Amino acid sequence: MSEYYEALGVSKDASQEEIKKAYRKLALKYHPDRNPGDKQAEKDFKRISEAYEVLSDEKKRQIYDQYGADALKGGGMGGPGGHGGFSSMEEALRTFMGAFGGGGGGHGGGDSIFDSFFGGDPHGGGGAQQGASKKMNLTISFEEAIKGVEKEVVLNNYICCTKCDGSGAASTSSIKTCTQCRGAGQVHQNRGFFTMTSICPQCYGKGKTITDPCSSCKGESRVKAKQQIKIKVPPGVDTGMRLRMTGHGDAGETGGPAGDLYVFISVEPHPVFQREGDDVVIELPLSFSDAALGCKKELPTPHGESCRLTVPEGIQSGKILRSKGAGAPNVHGRGKGDMLVKVIVETPVSLNEKQKDLLRQFGELEREQNSPRKGSFFDKIKGFFSNS
Ligand SMILES: [Zn+2]
Ligand SMILES: [Zn+2]
Repeated sequence: MSEYYEALGVSKDASQEEIKKAYRKLALKYHPDRNPGDKQAEKDFKRISEAYEVLSDEKKRQIYDQYGADALKGGGMGGPGGHGGFSSMEEALRTFMGAFGGGGGGHGGGDSIFDSFFGGDPHGGGGAQQGASKKMNLTISFEEAIKGVEKEVVLNNYICCTKCDGSGAASTSSIKTCTQCRGAGQVHQNRGFFTMTSICPQCYGKGKTITDPCSSCKGESRVKAKQQIKIKVPPGVDTGMRLRMTGHGDAGETGGPAGDLYVFISVEPHPVFQREGDDVVIELPLSFSDAALGCKKELPTPHGESCRLTVPEGIQSGKILRSKGAGAPNVHGRGKGDMLVKVIVETPVSLNEKQKDLLRQFGELEREQNSPRKGSFFDKIKGFFSNS
């Protein structure tokens, strides 16, 4: 399963960046506009376009790595000789347009070229492309989610080359306007009735060429570097929320804007508290006698303080006591949730003889008003039996 990698001349663990770059170079070389009537070039162009179509899509690439090209070929895709591949030039050209951000028109800012997690490039085509957006997961504790926290993380992004200030050139005098497209980034070619527009093969659409590239970034205008950044997590976040750190993705190519960093939050479960939106729920198990007689209980709050809760006598299992505003702060600053104390009354177990005896005595003294629900329940089913 290495045919596609060989076609593009990249290694099996090549990054999306490397795959895109390799394809662009080869596609310009074998493009039919540059090799009119050359059957071999046409074949090569189709072959590398097919390889790129698969390898630039992580999902397809995974299937290819595991099962080979045949696994990706449904009907329709099979080419002449049963070897598969793009049967038509149109398909190959569509891939080509996609890889160049729709520079030739017809395919506006195709997202197949962006290795960014979120795809899409609002700035489209041209030389100055936006850098890829990145995704990361961040796990924080329950308390940190309530109070907010600042976390330091290390990113390994492309950053703007400091040596050349992102120009990619050793000096400003080594930046020249491209002679082939005169700075337009596109070239036009008359083919019969049509004028074909394509990305300039000399400057790859940048409109400029560099005669003496920067020694640090080798003309790429950006370099990969480890960077420590602080992520400010606002109070009230919860699992599944996403923070967007504008400009903390990869730096753009040739001075394009940087992508963004998306931070996906997971909050560790707490042993007693549970979030329900901005409300925080805690279960309070009560003994039968505490529930019957009423009691006072010391409870923690989600904010790490303690509070004294007065449980009224005769409280029933399942009853919820609400402490207004003691829950999680709303992450958008819209007030605070409540703390909800859910009462669970426990039926006593493992009773000794003396306890059982007292309960039997209690049972003999029990009256109808001691169990209001029980009374009304049996009233209801009484009617049910007499009807049948
Ligand atoms: Zn540089
Ligand atoms: Zn040019």
